[in-house]
Amino acid sequence: MRYISTRGNAPALSFEDTMLTGLARDGGLYVPETIPTLSHGDIAAMAGLSYEEIAFRVMRPFVGDTFTDEVFADLIAKAYAGFGHDARAPLVQLAPNHFLLELFHGPTLAFKDFAMQLIGQMFQEALSRSGKRVTIVGATSGDTGSAAIEAFRGLSNVDVFILYPHGRVSEVQRRQMTTPTEDNVHALALTGDFDDCQARLKDMFNDFDFRDGVRLAGVNSINWARVLAQVVYYFSSAISLGAPHRPISFTVPTGNFGDIFAGYIAKRMGLPIEKLVVATNQNDILHRCLMTGGYVTDSVIPSISPSMDIQVSSNFERALFDAYDRDGAAVSQLMAELKAGGFHVSQGALETLRDIYASGRVSEEDTSAMITDALARTGEVLCPHSAIGVKVAEDHQGATPMVTLATAHPAKFPAAVKDATGHHPALPPRMADLFDRPERVTRVENDLTDLEELIRDRISVGTHQ
Ligand SMILES: *Cc1c(COP(=O)(O)O)cnc(C)c1O
Repeated sequence: MRYISTRGNAPALSFEDTMLTGLARDGGLYVPETIPTLSHGDIAAMAGLSYEEIAFRVMRPFVGDTFTDEVFADLIAKAYAGFGHDARAPLVQLAPNHFLLELFHGPTLAFKDFAMQLIGQMFQEALSRSGKRVTIVGATSGDTGSAAIEAFRGLSNVDVFILYPHGRVSEVQRRQMTTPTEDNVHALALTGDFDDCQARLKDMFNDFDFRDGVRLAGVNSINWARVLAQVVYYFSSAISLGAPHRPISFTVPTGNFGDIFAGYIAKRMGLPIEKLVVATNQNDILHRCLMTGGYVTDSVIPSISPSMDIQVSSNFERALFDAYDRDGAAVSQLMAELKAGGFHVSQGALETLRDIYASGRVSEEDTSAMITDALARTGEVLCPHSAIGVKVAEDHQGATPMVTLATAHPAKFPAAVKDATGHHPALPPRMADLFDRPERVTRVENDLTDLEELIRDRISVGTHQ
């Protein structure tokens, strides 16, 4: 299995190198050269299996010879052992034909743990084999950072630096990033918004001296291994609801397009997914693009669903690559236009996208109202992101069973949940002391040179090197 860049101008890589690299050297994102498929019989045979067994069968064809069967099965087992639910990704019924997929039972209470816990295991295995060390730099709107720190804290071959927008993450998210005490963890609060964090991260990858000098690795959702790990719960949930014998639709609260793109991969692998519905908050570039074909950036307006406060949706590039029949030159052209403010998707590509994806946008008021309403109608306490999903799903509900992804635990966003329900959602007991632990964070400006210097300094001191 080899991986190629969406911009058509970087070397093809193995799974291992794709995972350790993150962004391609031509600025593109890695995707599998061909997408393996599972037959109707293969999928039917997964009924009743554990999450871990389904994970093995779904991901195995993508991993190639990076890990043996035995090692890969062991990494999967370790990745999900720390989850607070035996089903890992349990389904809850909301209405006659509507189900909630709870993806918040991992150690940092958001779906990011599904990929990050596995990536932590895979990095450790690959790096300990080669004796190399890497510097992981991540940009976060809150949940990726906490999940990455949790997955990499204390690992001997890795330093992890997380850039988050100062003042724009929830207190629980911030504390999950600033309270770990391990020396290899570095939380950086940047003056700016998430798009600034993501832009500086991309700049670091495009600065080859820096990139090679610190052995930069990325774990943002541009990392293919992240997308891959998320393909699994589309299979596990759809199979629980009767796939492959009947089709299922999914609604996905979306920011960087990583989670929903994993659903597209599941569909391409043969899972009968009828529609993938993009749910956005007021930062609605994806919804506008699917409506009008115009992908035009606007400034980010902070919302009560901060993990979706994004205007440049990185993984959309992967969707465009396929919609443009894998024409890397065409994608490069669009991305160059994006730097100048935006682009128009061609009519053919737009039709392809609309065949796969539908979309909806939810205002702040309607998000809050949905949290109140869902509690009254179903007894479920939703986080604001999940509430956006449920609202858009209801607008798109048809005869096909609908699964909405619940992307975070309500206790991660207590202010919005308390406003809507009158109750402060409690953290699970294992993290009840989060507010008592001391915080450790470095304030940084939105400046590439300063950031690179800080990272170089930090990794050259102490026990590393
Ligand atoms: C990251 C995140 C999202 C958006 O996921 P993408 O893969 O970026 O589309 C939605 N909700 C929550 C809670 C998140 O942490």
